[in-house]
This record gives sequence, C-alpha cells and structure tokens, in this order.
Amino acid sequence: MPHPPYPPAPTLGIIGLGLIGGSLGLDLRRQGYRVLGVSRRDRTCELATTQGAVDQASTDFALMAEADWVVLCTPLDVLVPTVEALRPHLRSGTVLTDVGSVKQPIVEAIAPLWPNFVGGHPMAGTTDQGIEAAQFGLFVDRPYVLTPTPQTPAGAIAAVEALATALGARLYRCSPEEHDRSVAWISHLPVMVSTSLIQACRLEPSERVCALAQQLASSGFRDTSRVGGGNSELGLLMARYNREALLQSLRAYRQSLDGVMAAVEGEDWPQLQQILEQSHGDRPRFVA
Ligand code: NAP
Repeated sequence: MPHPPYPPAPTLGIIGLGLIGGSLGLDLRRQGYRVLGVSRRDRTCELATTQGAVDQASTDFALMAEADWVVLCTPLDVLVPTVEALRPHLRSGTVLTDVGSVKQPIVEAIAPLWPNFVGGHPMAGTTDQGIEAAQFGLFVDRPYVLTPTPQTPAGAIAAVEALATALGARLYRCSPEEHDRSVAWISHLPVMVSTSLIQACRLEPSERVCALAQQLASSGFRDTSRVGGGNSELGLLMARYNREALLQSLRAYRQSLDGVMAAVEGEDWPQLQQILEQSHGDRPRFVA
C-alpha cells in the first residue's frame, strides 16, 4: 500500500461523512492514511465504517483530538459553527481545511478562528448525496482548488496539497475571491440555468405534449438538466453564499439569452449562426 508523502502516515479527520467526506475517506484510507470520521447521525457513522470510508467514526468531536489534519465536509451553512464546536478538541498544530463550494465568506470566517486553516474546494461531485453516494476515485484528474491568504502558514498549504495529490486531483491555487467569481461562471450559473430549463418545460400548456416530451428526452436533455436536477440543498447554499458573483453571471446570461432571442425573433439567421459558431469555438476552452 503506498504511503502518503507528507508527513509520514498522518491521522486524518473528516467531519461530515456524506458524498464528499465519504469519498475522501475511501481514497485516503486506500492510500495508507488512518481516517477518523465525525458525522451528525449514528447511522451515517455506522455506514461509513462498514463501507470502509473511515477506520473509526463518532458523533462526538472529541475523536478529532487524535487527528493531524482535519477536513470539514459539512454543508456550507454549518462549516463555521462546526469549527467553533470543534476548536476545543483540536491539538494546536492541527491543519484544518474545508471542501466548501464557496470560499470567500468561509475563509474570512474560519481563518481568524483557526490560523492553521487553508480553504479548499475539490471540484468533483455527482447528483447524489449522503454516505451511500460515496465512491472511490471521485477526485482523480479533477481540479482541487486551494485558496490560501497571505497569512496562511506554508506548512498547512503543503499538507493540503499532499492530500489533493494523494487523491490524484489537479492542484490549483487562487484567492478566495477569484475562486468564487470563477465558479459562479462554470458551476453556480449552470445550476441556475439548468434548473430554469427544467422549470420552463413545466410551462408547456398541453399535458399530451408534455408527456411526449418527457418520453422523447434523451442525451441532450440529460446533459443540460443534470446539474439543475441535483442536490437542491447544495444549489440553495451556493446561491446564498456566492450571491453577488452569481447575480453578476446571471445578468450576463440574461443578456446572452436576449441576444439569441433577438436573432430568432428578427429571423437574423447570420447573427444566430455567428453566435452558434462562436460557442462551438469557445466550448473547448472550458471542457476538452
Ligand atoms: P452531503 O452528501 O449532503 O454530505 C454532507 C454530510 O454532512 C451529511 O452526510 C451529514 O451527515 C453531514 N452533516 C450535516 N450537518 C452536520 C453537522 N452539523 N455536523 C456533522 N456532520 C454534519 O453533501 P456533500 O455533497 O458531500 O457536500 C458537502 C460539502 O462539500 C459542502 O460544503 C459542499 O459545498 C462541498 N462540495 C460539494 C460538491 C458536490 O458536488 N456535492 C462538490 C464539491 C464540494 P449525517 O448523514 O450524519 O447527517
């Protein structure tokens, strides 16, 4: 079994044993880390242990006293209260990181509570949630963004980089603000666009046409509706915590949509062709 690179065989704590926390545990145990988990419900702790995501799990933060590094994997709105409750149980040198999908408000709130904290965001997921959805290899070849500030200790950054590398992820570093603006475009806006698409389909007046459309929906609709039909709690929290950047991207999207509508309404086919060709050319810059 390969040994983690830095430091030798640290004990890893994971708080929140859901899709992300459970998947981290599965991979990192396989890499030789000893993994301790804390979650809210006893049932989740039992499942995480039987699924092999953790060596030991508890609903009591006291278990984290043994951890060298702790990864916070709870929903965004409980990250800060979790750190407040966890703090008395941690050793002073413990490295703390989180996996939250929004960084600026989280980093601003947690860094003063625990200086050895590095904001992080492994950009992988599925439409499912909970420990049952945890899977091996979720982070392989996916971006893992670290958002240190000028005050973040270098040792803490190195520890979280070692974790991301052990997961087979692609490492990126940027400021919390740049992270939030970037993910607004490529993650949070798509969730809102995709959910709006599903909502728009509900407006078809004929039940018969609606039923037929549901039967005919295939790969195009599956791709475009996937993120809008996923974890609603996560979508809501993204919007609440990254509101400004999301609003900016939604306004730009509305402008884009108006451009498409104007071309169709005015039968300006050369204009529509230009828009479609530009998109065809731009897409590979975002996804290979
Ligand atoms: P999830 O599957 O719903 O898991 C969250 C887990 O947190 C739940 O299993 C729950 O455990 C636990 N939890 C909730 N409140 C808690 C508390 N007060 N104390 C301890 N544990 C608590 O959600 P997820 O998709 O893994 O998301 C978790 C984090 O990852 C979020 O911050 C999200 O922004 C981030 N993230 C998500 C994705 C994605 O696509 N899903 C991608 C990247 C990052 P119990 O079962 O014990 O209640």
